[in-house]
Amino acid sequence: MKPSLDTYAELLKQGSIVAFPTETVYGLGASAWNPLAIGRVFETKKRPADNPLIVHVSSIAMLNEFVEEIPDNARLLMQKFWPGPLTLIFKKKKKVLDLISGGLDTVAIRMPNHPVALRLIDLAGPLVAPSANTSGRPSPTRPDHVRDDFGNSLPVIDCGHCEIGLESTVLDLTSDVPEILRPGFITPNAIAQQTGIHVIMAVHKPDEAPKSPGVKYSHYSPDAAVRWMNTDEPAVNRDTLYLLHDNIPGVGQSTARMIHFYGDYRRMGRELYDWFRKADHEGYSNIAIEPFNTDNPDELIATLKNRIDKATSAQ
Ligand code: AMP
Ligand code: MG
Repeated sequence: MKPSLDTYAELLKQGSIVAFPTETVYGLGASAWNPLAIGRVFETKKRPADNPLIVHVSSIAMLNEFVEEIPDNARLLMQKFWPGPLTLIFKKKKKVLDLISGGLDTVAIRMPNHPVALRLIDLAGPLVAPSANTSGRPSPTRPDHVRDDFGNSLPVIDCGHCEIGLESTVLDLTSDVPEILRPGFITPNAIAQQTGIHVIMAVHKPDEAPKSPGVKYSHYSPDAAVRWMNTDEPAVNRDTLYLLHDNIPGVGQSTARMIHFYGDYRRMGRELYDWFRKADHEGYSNIAIEPFNTDNPDELIATLKNRIDKATSAQ
C-alpha cells in the first residue's frame, strides 16, 4: 500500500527529504526551517552551497514568514500567476536561513500549481524544493527520473508525468525594473498582458557575479552529447537521437530515433528532459536538436532555447 500524504508530511517534519511532484518538475523537498534537512538536500544533489533554493509555500500567510515586505507589483503578479510556475525574489526576513539564500539578502518563493504539492505543504509547512536530480543532470519530470539519480530508498510521491516539464520563471522584484533571471513557462509577454508590468531579461556580464548564482553552473545534461543540428543536416546517424520541431521537408513520421514535435512547443517542453534521459537509457551517444527559426513567434522558444543551450555548453 502506498503511504499517505500525512506519512510523507510527517517524514518532512522530522527532517527527512522527500521528492514530490509540482506542475514544473519533481522537487526534492525539505522543511524550510530545518538546517539539517536542507543540508541533506545539498548533499544528496551535490549542489554547490552558493546556489540558493526556492521556498515553496501554499498560502500568503506562509509567504509572510519569509519576506520583509510584499511590493505592490508582487501582489498583482501573485494574483494572476499563483499558484503557478512563477518564482518571485523578495527581500528576505533576517530569520530566513542563510543556507536557503546562499548568503544573499533575498529569498526566492513560489506557490506550485499542483494539488498534491499544495496539500503536502499545508500539512508539512513551507518546503525548499530544488529539482530532484543530481546537480547538472536534466530535471526530473517523472518519478523514474528521480530514482535514476538517487536510487529507490529516497521517498518519492508518485503522481506520474509533470504537466509543464520546464523549471519555473524566476523574476527578481528587488531591482528598479523587474528582471527575469531564468526564463520559464510564464513569459515576459504574458506578464505584460495580464498585469501591465514591464519586465526585462537579465543580462549576465562576464566580469560581474550573476544575480542568480545558479546560472553559472552547467545544467540539464544527460550523458549523451547534446548539440544543435546544422542547417540541412540529414538525420541519419544511428548513434544519434534527433529532436525535430518544425516539419522538415521530406521527413514525416516520428521513428524510434527521430522525434517530431510538429510545432507543439508545450509538448516539447513537457518531454524534453524525458527524451534526454531516454537517450541515455537507449544507448545513444548524441542528441541533435533542430535549431529554432529566429522569426518563430512562439513564446516558449526562448525558454526551450535557454535549456538546450545550457545542455549543449556542458559537453
Ligand atoms: P532550482 O531549484 O534547481 O530550479 O534552481 C533555483 C534557481 O533559482 C537557481 O537558478 C537559483 O540561482 C535561483 N535563485 C534562488 N534563490 C535566489 C535568490 N535569492 N536570488 C537569485 N536567484 C535565486
Ligand atoms: Mg535544478
